[in-house]
Amino acid sequence: MSELGPSPLAAGERNLSVDEARAAIAAVLRPLPRSDSIELPLPEAAGRVLAADLISPIDVPAHDNSAMDGYAFAGSALRADGPTVLKAAGTVFAGKPFAGTVAAGCCVRIMTGAVMPAGADTVVPLELVQVQGAADSGKVHLQPGTLRAGENRRRRGEDLGAGKPALQAGRVLRPADLGLVASLGLTHVRVMRPLKVALFSTGDEVAEPGTALAEGCIYDSNRFALGAAVRRLGMEVIDLGLVRDDRAALAAVIERAVREADVVITSGGVSAGDADYTRDILAQAGDVSFWKVAMRPGRPFAFGPLRRPGAKPGDAASPSWLFALPGNPVAALVTFYAFVREALLVLAGATPAPLPVLSARSTVAIRKRPGRTEFQRAIVEPVSDADGHVGWQVRLFGSQGAGVLRSMSEANALVVLDHEQGSVAAGDAVPVWLFDGLV
Ligand code: AMP
Ligand code: MG
Repeated sequence: MSELGPSPLAAGERNLSVDEARAAIAAVLRPLPRSDSIELPLPEAAGRVLAADLISPIDVPAHDNSAMDGYAFAGSALRADGPTVLKAAGTVFAGKPFAGTVAAGCCVRIMTGAVMPAGADTVVPLELVQVQGAADSGKVHLQPGTLRAGENRRRRGEDLGAGKPALQAGRVLRPADLGLVASLGLTHVRVMRPLKVALFSTGDEVAEPGTALAEGCIYDSNRFALGAAVRRLGMEVIDLGLVRDDRAALAAVIERAVREADVVITSGGVSAGDADYTRDILAQAGDVSFWKVAMRPGRPFAFGPLRRPGAKPGDAASPSWLFALPGNPVAALVTFYAFVREALLVLAGATPAPLPVLSARSTVAIRKRPGRTEFQRAIVEPVSDADGHVGWQVRLFGSQGAGVLRSMSEANALVVLDHEQGSVAAGDAVPVWLFDGLV
C-alpha cells in the first residue's frame, strides 16, 4: 500500500492501455521548480530548457529600415496622374545612417537594412524605376501605380518590441532560438539545470561488455541504449552499472539512486513471472505501481515516486521518479519512447511539442488485433507515383521479435498501430514515428 499518501496510481498490478498509462504518468509528475536553474553562455545552451520567459531588451529592428535595395523618399510625392520624378541626392548604406534629411522632391539610394533617412517613409525597389543620369545624383522616374506610400519600410520593433517575450519558459532551445537570443544582444540565457537520471540494469544473466561471457549470459545493451537516449535529451546520466539479483545489492543501489537523482531508470526484472527480487525491492522503495500495458513490444512496466532518505510518510515534496522498463532490449527502448521520453522532458521543466507523426503507406498488409498498441520497426522512404508526386512509404522488418536489437538499429522509424486499430491492408496509410529530425 501507498506510504506517500493518496495517489491516482493504484497499487498492485493493473492492465492499462498505452494512453491510460501515459495519462496516469502525466497526472502525477511534478516538474523541477523554475528556480532550479543556471545561467549559461549561448554556445553551451543548445538543447537546454529555458527557465524563464526571455524578455527582449530592445526593439527589433532597432530602427525603421529599408526592406529593399532601391530609392527612399517621402510617399506624399507619389503622383497618380503621371510619372513621379525624383532627384537623387546621395546614397545610404546598411550600418551607415544618412546624415541629412531627404528634401521634398528628392530621394536617396538605399540598401536593404539601411536606416530610413529623415524625410523618407517609402522605398521603391531598383527594378521598378528608370534612372536618368548617375545612380546617386540623376533623375529617378516611377510610373503611376508602381507602389503605395509607406511600402518597403520595415518598422522599428516590427519583429519584436522591447519588453515583449521573445521565447517562453519551457522551450527546448534550438539553433534558431540561440540566433534570436544573440540578435537581442544577449550573451547568456537562464536554463533549467539538467535532470539527473540514475540508470542501472538488473539480472544475473546480464554481463558487462568487455568481460568474458559465461554460458547462458548476454551483454548489457540496455544501459548503453537508454543512457544515450537520455543524454540526447540534454540530461545527465548517473551510471549505476549492473546490479546482481541480490536483495542487499538492489536495496543499496536504489538508496544511492534516490539520494543522487531526480529519476531512476532500470531495466529487467519487472515482469510478473520474474523470479528475481527487483520487483519486491522496487515495491518497498516507494509508491510504485506495476502495470501490464496493452502494447507490443513492452508490457511489464513499473512507475511511481520513490521515497527520498529521511522523507516522512505523506511527504512527497520532491520524490525521485522510478521508471522500470522491461528487460528485452527492443521493449526497453520502445517503452522509453512511449512513456519515459516525454515524462523526462516534463520533469526537466520543458513544454514538449507534440511528437510529429508522419502518415506513410505500408508496403505490406499488417495483421493486428484491436486491444493493444503495436510498435513495429520499419524503414520509411520517399517514393514517387506515376504522376511524379512524392510521398512516403514504410517497409516493416520481417523479424519483430522483442529481443532483436539489430532491427531497432537498422530501422529509422516505428509504425505505431493504436489500441483500436485492426489489420492494415497493403497500401493503407499508417502513423509513423521518425527516429531523426532536422534539428
Ligand atoms: P526480464 O524483463 O528481466 O524478464 O528480461 C527479459 C529479457 O531481456 C531476458 O532475455 C533478459 O536476458 C533480457 N535482458 C534483461 N536485461 C537486459 C539488458 N540490460 N541488456 C540486454 N538484455 C537484457
Ligand atoms: Mg530477468
